[in-house]
Amino acid sequence: MEMQEGGIEPRSTLTCPQCDHAETETMPTDACQWFYDCKGCGAVLKPKPGDCCVYCSYGSVPCPPIQSGDCCCD
Ligand SMILES: [Zn+2]
Repeated sequence: MEMQEGGIEPRSTLTCPQCDHAETETMPTDACQWFYDCKGCGAVLKPKPGDCCVYCSYGSVPCPPIQSGDCCCD
């Protein structure tokens, strides 16, 4: 996993909790993503309670706003 200059890693590997399919996606840097369609089984992933986006719940890397300490969802 390479970290970009500035410390924000824009890519996260989402792992589906239903089928374990893993897919690396580039995250939007200016917004949280609430829904993600699994490319393995087609399930629509949503954030777990307390998480602001699917990357925080299922990704290998939390979303950019979390990484920068400036989460939009507090
Ligand atoms: Zn799946």
